[in-house]
Formats: sequence, C-alpha cells, structure tokens
Amino acid sequence: MQIVWFKRDLRVDDNAALSEAVERGPVLPLYILEPDLWTGRDMGARHYRFLTECVAELDCSLTKLGQPLIVKIGGAVGVLNELVLRHPVEAIWSHQETWNAWTYERDKAVRKYLAKKKIPWHEPPQNGVIRRLNRRDGWSKKWLLNMRQPLVNKPLAMVKIEEKTEVLPNFEGIGLKDDHCQKRQKGGRQEGLSYLFSFLDERGQHYSRKMSSPVTAYESCSRISPYLAFGSLSVREVFQKIEERKEVIAKDIQIEAKNWSRSLRAFSSRLRWHCHFIQKLEDEPQLELRNIHSHHDKIRNPQFTHKKRGFFKAWKNGETGYPMVDACMRALISTGWLNFRMRAMLMSFSSYHLWLHWREPALHLAKLFLDYEPGIHWSQCQMQSGTTGINTIRIYNPIKQGIDQDPKGEFVRAWVPELQGVSDTHIHMPWLASGRLVNYPNPIVDEKVARRTAAKALYNLKKGEGYSKIAGQVVKRHASRRNAKQSLKTNSRLKKTKDSQLKLPLD
Ligand SMILES: Cc1cc2nc3c(=O)[nH]c(=O)nc-3n(C[C@H](O)[C@H](O)[C@H](O)COP(=O)(O)OP(=O)(O)OC[C@H]3O[C@@H](n4cnc5c(N)ncnc54)[C@H](O)[C@@H]3O)c2cc1C
Repeated sequence: MQIVWFKRDLRVDDNAALSEAVERGPVLPLYILEPDLWTGRDMGARHYRFLTECVAELDCSLTKLGQPLIVKIGGAVGVLNELVLRHPVEAIWSHQETWNAWTYERDKAVRKYLAKKKIPWHEPPQNGVIRRLNRRDGWSKKWLLNMRQPLVNKPLAMVKIEEKTEVLPNFEGIGLKDDHCQKRQKGGRQEGLSYLFSFLDERGQHYSRKMSSPVTAYESCSRISPYLAFGSLSVREVFQKIEERKEVIAKDIQIEAKNWSRSLRAFSSRLRWHCHFIQKLEDEPQLELRNIHSHHDKIRNPQFTHKKRGFFKAWKNGETGYPMVDACMRALISTGWLNFRMRAMLMSFSSYHLWLHWREPALHLAKLFLDYEPGIHWSQCQMQSGTTGINTIRIYNPIKQGIDQDPKGEFVRAWVPELQGVSDTHIHMPWLASGRLVNYPNPIVDEKVARRTAAKALYNLKKGEGYSKIAGQVVKRHASRRNAKQSLKTNSRLKKTKDSQLKLPLD
C-alpha cells in the first residue's frame, strides 16, 4: 500500500504525488489535521474554515474515484506510525512542501522517523520551486520549462481500502476563536476554477490598470490566491490556462486585444513571482524569523515598549487616524483579502511611520490574509519594511495613496462609517475638516515627521560600514537575476549619497 499525504495540494487534478502512487497499487489518501499547526500564531479561524471546505470537496472527488479521503487528527509522526503498524506501507507520497517554520521542523521529524522504518518518502515538486538550489542563475528559465510540462492526469479509479476516518471538528473544537471574516471567499476547487475563469473571460480585461486601487481591485484582480495557497488549483494549470487565453485573444479581433494582452502578461509574471518568493524561503527558512540583512537588527526592537504596543493596537484595530490605513485594515478583517499595493501600504505604515519591528505585525497579517503563503508573506513583509537590504525603500504615504487610489473616498466611507459625513476634499485628512469628528481618532503620528525620521534612520544604516558587502551576499542568494544588477547599483548609489540628500524614493 502507498500512503498519499495531502498537505497544501488539496486536489486530484495535476497532482503528481497522487497519480504516481495510484500507478503502484492501492492507495490510502490521507489528510492529517495537526492541531499544533492550526493553533500557531500565524493561523486563524478563517483559514481553518476554508480548509474544511477544501477537504470536503477533495473527499467527494476521491470518493468518486473509489476511495474516500481518510482524515486523522494528531501529530504526523504518531498518525503515520499507527498506519504503518496496521498496513503494509511501501512508501509515503506528498508534494514537496515549502511552508512555515513549524512544518519545516515537522518534516524533519517525519523524515527521521521514515528513515528509521526504512520507508521511502517521495516528494514530487508542485510549483516550480527547486529544493537544494545552489545558484539562482537560470531559475526563471527552469520555472518556465516546468510550467510548460503537460498537466498530470488525474487517476481513473482507486482501489477501496479499509481504514477508519475521523471527522474534522469545527474551528472552536481545535481552539480557534471566531475572527469575524463574514465576507471571505469559499474554499474548494470549484470555487477556485470559477474565480479563474471569470477573471480570464471577463473581469481581467483591465487588470493592469485597476489592480492598484482597492475600489476596483476586489473585482479586477483574479482572487485566486487562497486556492493556490491551499493547492485547490495548481500554479501550472493556471499558467497553461493563461497561455490558452492568450492564443484565443491573438486570433479574435473583436476583443480589445491590447488591454487583454497587457493584463495577461502582468498576470502571468505574477505567477512567476509567486514561486520566486517561495524559493527565497526554501533557500533560507530563517527569513520567517530574522532580518534578511543582519544590520537591521540594530534599529528596530522586536520587543515593543508601552508606547509601541499602543501603536500596534491602533494599527490592528484600524484606528490610526489615517483613513486609508484604517479602511484597509477593517476591509481585511472582514474579507480576508486586500490588493498588493494596500498590503504594502499597511506594512510600510507599521514599519516606517510607527517604527515597529516587522515580526509581530506580519504575524497579525498572516492570520488575516486568507491566502497566507509563508514564502510570499515573510519575504514581502521584510521587503516592505526595508530589511532585505537590496530592494528600493518605498515608504507609502497613506494620504497620497488615499488621494490617488480612492479619490472620492468610496472605499474609506464603506469601511470607516465614522467618516460618512466628511467631504471628498477632507476625506483623507479628516483632521483638517471643520467641526469635530465623533468616534474617529486624530492621527497617532505626524505623517511627514514619521516618514522623514524613518527614511533618515534607514539611510544612516545603509551607509554604515559593511552594509553593502552583506547586501551583495543577499543579492547573490535571493535576487531575481533580472533585478540583481539594479539592486547592487541602488546600494552603491546609496553609499555615495550625502546625508542631506535623501535619495530614498518616497511614494
Ligand atoms: C506585505 C505583503 C504580504 C503578502 N502576503 C501574501 C501571502 O501571504 N500570500 C499571497 O499569495 N500573496 C501575498 N502577497 C502578494 C499579493 O498581494 C497577493 O498575492 C495578491 O494580492 C493576491 O490576490 P490575487 O490572487 O487577486 O492576485 P493577482 O494580482 O490576480 O495575481 C495572481 C497570483 O499571482 C501571485 N502574486 C500576485 N502578486 C504577487 C506578489 N507581489 N508576490 C508574489 N506573488 C504574487 C499570487 O499567487 C496571485 O494569486 C503579499 C503582499 C504584500 C505586500
């Protein structure tokens, strides 16, 4: 018997682990609910509810093939050991997982246990991320080749086996609290396909123009991220659907081909970014926990003072007094999703204006993003906090972002009802409006002062001794080859710049 251990690949289509195992005889399809993973500080009830929907649909698909999903609750080593004692297990199959620090340690324990039992563990890759990669050179080409491989056919049938299954408890049953995500996306492959096709057929036409504003992004972005994060969709199948759509557009003169091809190109690049970021965590698991560039240890303390705890609380509750920041946080709490630019602004506001170390705010966002994908999340949180040492520092001005991305204040008024009565002129600076605002706070920091102070501190750090040398090492290890030269240039330029001329782009 083969055991197929489903992790973040909750589908039967294009699933190499499942299809390869089925070719070798009877298969026990297994999902292990690991309570210690689900009560980690980066997980929330929204993720768990989404998971239960994905698992239910996976169970239906497997039942149609002849063998329902077997669910077990407990630690992976204990569960596998019990199964190994009861069944003649020849091998374990699961996709090659790059997830958080907890799963990394768990996999090490599983590997040790299986080696002791002399049971092989096969882990086919599922998304173009390369394990034990020595050099970043040529990564994009390899990724493209991988994406162009034919999809793996789903098995035609499975042999029925005898094993008891357990029922997934509800979120409270594993110790999670309700996180009030009333407007979240539903889990499962059918939902994921429906988001993908509605995007490729209609919603995506003006994607590249409309992705930055939260007024339009909820409709114009694909919203497939949670389905990729849970593996209800594979990156390869999405890539190939884009290629098919590109061909249709190239032939059809009726379609506004220019908009579509620009949007599809942008969409396709982002799929590559998806894997590019996960590759960083695969290459350096510590980036979830430590500053990528170690000199940043000197400037922000992960332990918050009383004052910083107050800032953090205001940011988490959407009560900073900056309407765009507060609207984004509240929208995220309710929907589980936010577009890229607004995620970056939230993180930037916390790291620069409030001068908070990124780790606690990033844990908080991980809990709120339904699509939490550690490889992307931790790299992005560090990038938006300036701690990679190689990316251009972008400090988002929340007032400017509000004026640019929500000029009429529609988004702000929808999520911050306290500002209903404020005019369009003052909606992003309500403290300038005449009359007192009821229940809405004054800004917790002075935007301009906080931004300039942060820029100066970063600038001083960057020109310090040894900074560029470490940045060069980070470039070698993590930068996409397209951006590597630029990253090195940015660093040397910063080194030469005088203190009085801050060359950090302020967005
Ligand atoms: C601080 C911060 C944290 C983030 N955390 C996550 C996370 O935990 N999980 C996650 O999937 N994305 C994360 N992102 C990236 C990005 O914001 C989301 O992927 C995107 O908003 C998801 O919506 P969508 O599916 O509609 O994306 P689309 O714009 O439709 O893009 C399609 C797919 O491409 C990938 N993608 C898009 N933008 C990026 C990007 N900048 N980097 C890497 N991949 C990208 C995603 O898989 C996405 O589903 C984060 C960004 C920031 C700034």
